[in-house]
Amino acid sequence: MAIKMKRIVVPGEDLAEVEEFIEGENTYQEGEKVRSAVVGFATYDSKSHEVKVVPDKRVKVFEIGTKVIGQVVASRKTRILVNIAPIECNDERIVLPKTKATLFVSKIADRFVKEISEEYKIGDIIVAEIDDIKPYGLYLRTNKPNLGVLKAFCSRCRSPLHYNNAKLLCKKCGSIEHRKISSEYSIRD
Ligand SMILES: [Zn+2]
Repeated sequence: MAIKMKRIVVPGEDLAEVEEFIEGENTYQEGEKVRSAVVGFATYDSKSHEVKVVPDKRVKVFEIGTKVIGQVVASRKTRILVNIAPIECNDERIVLPKTKATLFVSKIADRFVKEISEEYKIGDIIVAEIDDIKPYGLYLRTNKPNLGVLKAFCSRCRSPLHYNNAKLLCKKCGSIEHRKISSEYSIRD
């Protein structure tokens, strides 16, 4: 079986054109696109022309210390807002709705953070831990080596950034960017 590539994807993410790949496990078709239904790793089988997503087992129900994956949707002076992707509870296949969470500047990294915009940008996919649960919402932390950006996009041309030599590089336009990246950053070469 020829597998093209494994990459981390979130629900709704565009995986392929319907003409190139057919929908496999944990994917669905929308118009001309095959999209992911879960957070997980997309795998492409070039022989059967099937794309499927293997759910990421690191994602569990919300409690303090739980690891979650989300997308940065807004950036303020002292905090960012993250859309936590709908997640499955263990193996019970209960899909939790999309939830917003807050990450304060003081919980981003174990060092002085001058500008939030140099750590996270809108559209970045991050892995974080639930730091606190309050009636108003969820609060996150990313001040550990394994937490931070899993997948970032070029702020000039929106291409996914490659991690190479401790830098994030856009192979399309050459832009070099900085982020608080996770040790599990998805695209390395
Ligand atoms: Zn670029």
